[in-house]
Amino acid sequence: MLGDMKVKNGVDRSIIYGMRRSGAPMREIAEKIGRSKERVRQILARGLGATNHELLSTLRLCNLSGLPRNRIVELYQDRTITPATKWSAGNRDYLLWSPETVAQISAYYQTLRLCRVCQYPLPKNRILFCSDKCRQERHKYKYMTPEEKQRVLANIRRYRERRKA
Ligand SMILES: [Zn+2]
Repeated sequence: MLGDMKVKNGVDRSIIYGMRRSGAPMREIAEKIGRSKERVRQILARGLGATNHELLSTLRLCNLSGLPRNRIVELYQDRTITPATKWSAGNRDYLLWSPETVAQISAYYQTLRLCRVCQYPLPKNRILFCSDKCRQERHKYKYMTPEEKQRVLANIRRYRERRKA
């Protein structure tokens, strides 16, 4: 992990990585920082491995893994996944992810039992639902299986017929 980019030898690396992340060509980055394209390439290569190695933004990781951003952030905070690189620009932290992170997330979810309502990992002492709240939710109609819904609808129909009679 790179941590915060420091200005080194007069080169603000956060500009280089930030611009590269947003898709800027090396020529433009070189012009911006007043260094050669080769120098930019060297800096990128040291930080990110090969420069043609396509790292993923957090948004792209969300799209590829099918997880909302807050779940990605949680997986990051509990160190289930580790960004390939991280730096701050302005008041924001930028994370970039190796493409393998998608497979890591998928493997992580395959080894977990998930709550049937909220899809969060189950604590060890829970079997189907992560919490009492989710257990109660499950008994609401919208979470029922098609068979259960049919049964509820049949009950309602019978009840109406009895009232008519
Ligand atoms: Zn739950």
